[in-house]
Amino acid sequence: MTHAASKSELFFHQAADHLGLSARFRVLLLAPERDVKVQVAIRLDNGEIETFIGYRVQHDNARGPMKGGLRFHPQVDEDEVRTLAQLMTWKTAVVDLPYGGAKGGIAVDPRSLSKGELERLTRKFVDQIHEMVGPDSDIPAPDMGTNSQVMAWFMNQYQTHHGFQPACVTGKPLELHGCEGREEATGRGVVIVTDRLMHHLGQKLAGKTVALQGFGNVGSFCGKVLHERGARVVAITDHRGGVKNANGLDIPTLLTYAQKNDGVAGFPGGDPMTNAELFASPVDILIPAALGGQLTAETAPSVRAKYIVEAANDPTTPEADEIFLKKGITVVPDILANAGGVTVSYFEWVQNRSVVHWPLEEIRGRLETRMSTAFDAVWQIAQDRKVPLRTAAYILGIGRVARATELAGVS
Ligand code: NAD
Repeated sequence: MTHAASKSELFFHQAADHLGLSARFRVLLLAPERDVKVQVAIRLDNGEIETFIGYRVQHDNARGPMKGGLRFHPQVDEDEVRTLAQLMTWKTAVVDLPYGGAKGGIAVDPRSLSKGELERLTRKFVDQIHEMVGPDSDIPAPDMGTNSQVMAWFMNQYQTHHGFQPACVTGKPLELHGCEGREEATGRGVVIVTDRLMHHLGQKLAGKTVALQGFGNVGSFCGKVLHERGARVVAITDHRGGVKNANGLDIPTLLTYAQKNDGVAGFPGGDPMTNAELFASPVDILIPAALGGQLTAETAPSVRAKYIVEAANDPTTPEADEIFLKKGITVVPDILANAGGVTVSYFEWVQNRSVVHWPLEEIRGRLETRMSTAFDAVWQIAQDRKVPLRTAAYILGIGRVARATELAGVS
């Protein structure tokens, strides 16, 4: 491959090679439409002023309004937000939503702020970016460090500028135009595609052993639905530690414990474990559901799982991906595996715009269908072109965006 590409763009170019895209067209597809960095200064509870940096990157709108999460995390920076915005463009295309991709964030540790400080930070950020976002242009959603409360503040502040606009953001509380099943959607979607992978391999998810990194929004619902479908979750780590039990962790009890104790560390129903041990666990399925960049040239050689399902965004470096390919480990890529969240966000947006409310069972049914259809399409491309699932997912996503771009033309 001859292109000078950043690490995160290598996956793009592998697929673009298959699609025969020209160098000029690649530049058009890769460059973000708009990339904004703002100063977000707030008064802390102690009276002092603290300044944070906020980002919103709007990557592509060829297929519709741009969609992507809002992350509050100390490691948020321009590069990370740009990479994640691009991933959103391919992801919304893989699950065939009428959206493009965007991402935003503030470099802040939300745990270090009081609720009032967090609210002021969110509202100030909205004041800075409200002209560039909206139901027809760019629709934020929760991501790491943000939740339905942050989305409620976001909507309320946006409405002070633009009037009644519940579709300006998704992942809102149920009492404020939110959607049934939004919170569980990403974790549930991860399990739906894992189930589908097993189906295509002529195997069953029930009875499979799983190691899970991260037990936040995505990880906890992933664990819950895996448990419901009969898989055995034997290892979990989070930011404070980890726990393992070869007979399977009691997930319902662990969910209550983790909520009370700010994490899984010290859970009496298992033994302690580290991330390094988790990656090297002799399990069927490894699910990274925490930070990006966890599976690297250093950690990948120790992985013993047969399948990796990327619940987190961008958890695998290209070097690690190469190692997994050589070891015969099948990787279900992030842009397919964790698309359940944006899919149910789309359902929320549709309901907000139609002023209707769908019941939970309808949301779950629609999610199951959409995720399974996307998995089957990616699987078929992988079989036809003899490529890994990641390349197949990029071929599907980039192919759809490229076609829409070509059809629309440049004004
Ligand atoms: P979250 O903040 O709710 O949870 C993150 C989890 O990761 C926590 O359990 C935390 O303890 C754990 N963690 C942090 N540092 C760790 C470390 N060093 N080792 C082990 N665990 C660690 O975030 P989330 O919403 O669950 O998101 C997790 C991942 O999923 C992110 O990569 C995010 O971009 C991705 N994602 C989230 C959604 C969504 O709907 N929330 C959708 C798509 C993708």
